[in-house]
Amino acid sequence: MQADPFAFASLLAEQILKGEGVGKLPIDPKAFARAKDIEVVAKPTSSAGVSGMLVRSGNEFAIAYATHLENEGFENFSVGHELGHFFLPGHMDAVIPGGSGMHESRAGFNSKDRYEAEADRFSAGFLMPRFLFFPATETAGSGLAAIEALATLCKTSLHATAIRYAQCTREPVAVIISVGSRIDHCFLSEALKQASGIDRLRKHEAVPRGTATHAFNQDSNNVKKAARVEESCNLQDWFGGKRSLPIGEDVLGLGRYGKTLTVLHSIKLPDAEEEEDEAALIESWTPRFKR
Ligand SMILES: [Zn+2]
Repeated sequence: MQADPFAFASLLAEQILKGEGVGKLPIDPKAFARAKDIEVVAKPTSSAGVSGMLVRSGNEFAIAYATHLENEGFENFSVGHELGHFFLPGHMDAVIPGGSGMHESRAGFNSKDRYEAEADRFSAGFLMPRFLFFPATETAGSGLAAIEALATLCKTSLHATAIRYAQCTREPVAVIISVGSRIDHCFLSEALKQASGIDRLRKHEAVPRGTATHAFNQDSNNVKKAARVEESCNLQDWFGGKRSLPIGEDVLGLGRYGKTLTVLHSIKLPDAEEEEDEAALIESWTPRFKR
């Protein structure tokens, strides 16, 4: 398995919180920054896609966060992202070369830029540190409802919370972000990745026909109006393979964000031993003929 190249950024955020003795959710990134003498201001941005800015003048720092999405969770994520540039090794020199100036960020937009991606992962780990977030996942329920409960607890966006949930839960779940007929990005929890005989979902692949998500995305109003459906489907609809298993498929329009969030959950994978026993049983029933 490929090691996660950005995991260190989340780990650093968690270490910083532990070092400060932070022991409960939610984490308030604005208050945290101010306590570090970093000025934090709200700023409506004119250029779309800019989530926030880091401004440096010598040893003075300021963070501006965009308010155009009117989403507190997204604002927190943006401030966490700028804190990432502040704390991650090498970032300050890379994003504000020369010691003075400003950096415009595009937080949470799945940037291919290494520094942006690292700052995003820092922010996710900072707002949803595993040592506090994982225990919360254990009592949050399942599916979209669990993610909503965790987003309320952490004051984070549903999008960021869903991704972090897939990283931290011990349940087999998949979180899929789609736009129209395409998968924009997707995350499988470790338990689902370990399951044998399922096809990997890929970025830019088509949303499978016959799924609730496919039907949902036929009408773009569903996304705008933040409509939601909770349906069931079959594991094979999404992942192919030999296992026919009913699973839950919760779908939510992410409003202004313009994307659809799908959570596949309640996936009762048989454990490896059970499956082996079953295979052995079938084998024992299969009559053998001599040639
Ligand atoms: Zn940035």
